[in-house]
Order: sequence, then structure tokens, then C-alpha cells
Amino acid sequence: MYPAAFEYHAPTSVRDALALLGKLDDAKILAGGHSLIPMMKLRLAQPKHLIDLGRVPGLSGIKEDGGALAIGAMTTHWDVESSKVVKAKAAVVSETAALIGDPAVRNKGTIGGSLAHADPAADMPATAIALGFEFVCEGAKGKRTVKVDDWFQGLMATALKEDELLVEVRVPVPAAGTGAAYLKFPHPASRFAIVGVCAAVTLDKGGTCTKASVGVTGAGTKAIRARGVEAGLSGKRLDAAAIEAAAQKAAEGVDVQADLQGSVEYKTHLLKVYCRRALEAALARARK
Ligand SMILES: Cc1cc2nc3c(=O)[nH]c(=O)nc-3n(C[C@H](O)[C@H](O)[C@H](O)COP(=O)(O)OP(=O)(O)OC[C@H]3O[C@@H](n4cnc5c(N)ncnc54)[C@H](O)[C@@H]3O)c2cc1C
Repeated sequence: MYPAAFEYHAPTSVRDALALLGKLDDAKILAGGHSLIPMMKLRLAQPKHLIDLGRVPGLSGIKEDGGALAIGAMTTHWDVESSKVVKAKAAVVSETAALIGDPAVRNKGTIGGSLAHADPAADMPATAIALGFEFVCEGAKGKRTVKVDDWFQGLMATALKEDELLVEVRVPVPAAGTGAAYLKFPHPASRFAIVGVCAAVTLDKGGTCTKASVGVTGAGTKAIRARGVEAGLSGKRLDAAAIEAAAQKAAEGVDVQADLQGSVEYKTHLLKVYCRRALEAALARARK
């Protein structure tokens, strides 16, 4: 199927992209195109203008910056997956990227596109919540940074304003004693998450959990922090009973949706199972 007609723009600087975004009526940013173009082909989106960021320099790449990794919004999933510095400093981010779609998707799709699009079944949002990503947005008046807990606002809705670009994603490097893992139950065709859970746990030297951070994706209309799970872990020694009890709260606060992939009961069950498994995997890493 073909998309409706649109005008294509290829700016060569952030400034020009922002000027186009401010000037054009009904314009959309084009990054890797692996979510937007399918939506346009299905006529779920019919923007009059596409502003392609592909020729804008400075929007891709990964560098260490203080206690964080600064990842340019146009950095592809493959670049995140294969980055030595991401593997060394925040391996779960590289592992999450490696589970997205297939090689073709990962070679075109971008971390910024995924997080700006906020598909409810996307993988990286769960990891963004568990690790506490920050989002650097740029508009005509300059830059602002949004914390992950303010980012995902609803079905494909984020804190990004219509006249802003997402230019950078900042990943705080997890503290010593932290282990993290992302696990998903993938859709057999698309590999999107029917449910996905990212857990990060930090242990003190005595083995007590000082911080637990859990993001869930797939089951509801947006990725969300599993606060009930987190509260059940912090300050505790994490034995099997504590993990199981906490995982039982995985669906609290999630507006679990029934769809072709399963009923509310089925997805709620999957969330609890994947939460327990992600916690166990994170804990095993924290103990190493
Ligand atoms: C077959 C297939 C399988 C897939 N499987 C998975 C999967 O298993 N897991 C998963 O998480 N994803 C999956 N995806 C989605 C894929 O990861 C997309 O690449 C990603 O969601 C969007 O990134 P993009 O760079 O392609 O963005 P685009 O499609 O170009 O844009 C998506 C949206 O974000 C906006 N946008 C993009 N970049 C910016 C920016 N810098 N600033 C402001 N707005 C911006 C666009 O305007 C658009 O609204 C799959 C896609 C396909 C086609």
C-alpha cells in the first residue's frame, strides 16, 4: 500500500530542521522510518510534510559524559547493540537493542525514533524506565531535559512538544553493585513485546537491596514503572520468596489491554512471570 502524498524536506542542520518544524503545517520528523512509514502506508498517519533528519550531522553517536552515556537520537539500534562503551557501562541497553525486530529493523531504526514514537509494545521504553534515562529535547528557544518518569504520557504520547526534536538520550551509568536484565515474550512475527520487563537491582556489600527499578512494556497503553514491585524489594534481602511476592505486583498500575495477542488475564500472568525472571536475572548479575 502507498502512503498519501507528502512533501519531503532534507535539512542539513538542527536549526534548519527546527525552522521547518516551526513553519510547516502538519509536519512529521522522519528518523529511521521503521514506525512512521508503515503507519503512513496503512494511512494511520498522513502528514503533509516529512522532515528527514538523515542528513543532519551531530545527531548520532555514543559518548561517555560524566556519569552518563550520551546517545544521539539518530543512533541506530544496531549501533547501540554493538557499542563497546554501552556493553561495558550499561550492558542491558545494548541487550535490549539487540532484541528489537530483526537486523533490517535494527540497522535503520533509531533509539530516538523508538522513544519518541513510544509504541506501547516497544522494548527500549522498559529499559529507559529501569535505568532512569533522560531525554534532551531541542526547540527554537533551546534545550530542555525531561526525566523518564515524565516522558511516557499515554498511547504513543510523550512529553516531546510538537515544535521540538529529541536530540539526545542520556543513560545514567548504573551504580556499583547493580545488576540489570531485560526479558520479553516476543510476538512471533514482529518480535515486538507482548510483555517485556526490565529490572535493575542494586545491592549493598551485605547483600541487601538498596534500590530496585522496574519498567514494564507491552501489556498496557504505555510503558510504566512497576512501583509496587519496587516497593516490595527495597531494603530487603532478596530471596526467592521476596522476589516472587514482589513479582506478583507486576501488573499493578498497568492498564492491561486485551487484543489479538491475549486476554487481560493471560497478559497479567505473563507480566508476573517475566517480572520474576527479570528480577532473578538482574539479581544474579548484581551478585557477581
Ligand atoms: C518489522 C518491524 C519489527 C519491529 N520490531 C520491533 C521490536 O521488536 N521492538 C521494538 O521496540 N520496535 C520494533 N520495531 C520498531 C522499530 O524499532 C522502529 O525503528 C522504532 O520504533 C522507530 O524508530 P525510527 O527511527 O524508525 O523512527 P521513525 O519511524 O522515523 O519515527 C517514529 C516516530 O517518532 C518521531 N521521531 C523520530 N525521531 C524523532 C526525533 N529525533 N525527534 C522527534 N521526533 C522523532 C517521528 O516523527 C515519528 O512520529 C519494529 C519495526 C518493524 C518495521
